Amino acid sequence: MPLLQISQLGHPILRQKARAVAQVSNPEIQTLIDDMIQTCADASGLGIAAPQVYQPLRLFILSSKPTPRYPTASSMAPMAMVNPTITERSEETEKDWEGCLSIPGLVGLVTRHKSVTVSFTNRFGEKADLFLEGLAARVFQHEYDHLDGIVFLDRADTKELYTDKEYQRKVREAAD
Ligand code: ZN
Repeated sequence: MPLLQISQLGHPILRQKARAVAQVSNPEIQTLIDDMIQTCADASGLGIAAPQVYQPLRLFILSSKPTPRYPTASSMAPMAMVNPTITERSEETEKDWEGCLSIPGLVGLVTRHKSVTVSFTNRFGEKADLFLEGLAARVFQHEYDHLDGIVFLDRADTKELYTDKEYQRKVREAAD
């Protein structure tokens, strides 16, 4: 069981626009960040946004690491991104598989910008800018959507949705 309960599709918190975090140093925010990092690890997620743990705040954890779905992903320590913005988006896009802890059992093909330049406040209250590409860019865009009440299904063609079971079968067939 993940540390925090994860909101599931249909709950209105996943459809509302989250509000900015006023004070990152607030002990409640620091505890929320710790608990979200643990919950993301417990659930084997690549990221988790505050609305997914019932907090309507502009905050998410980004945690890129190799997974069966993304074996070539780079590993990075889980990073809290507070009040994030996207300052640049590559014209080039790419389509790849996504799932969501709030939408268990389904994966789909989603088109995202191949790279993004992002700006955010880290958990120490410092402003930071990062250039992200590949999986990290994809996860950032997925989590960022959660802050605006958007889920990956909204960006997927329903004909390109798979159940986990069928997706695993497809991956196995591709590997044979
Ligand atoms: Zn999600």
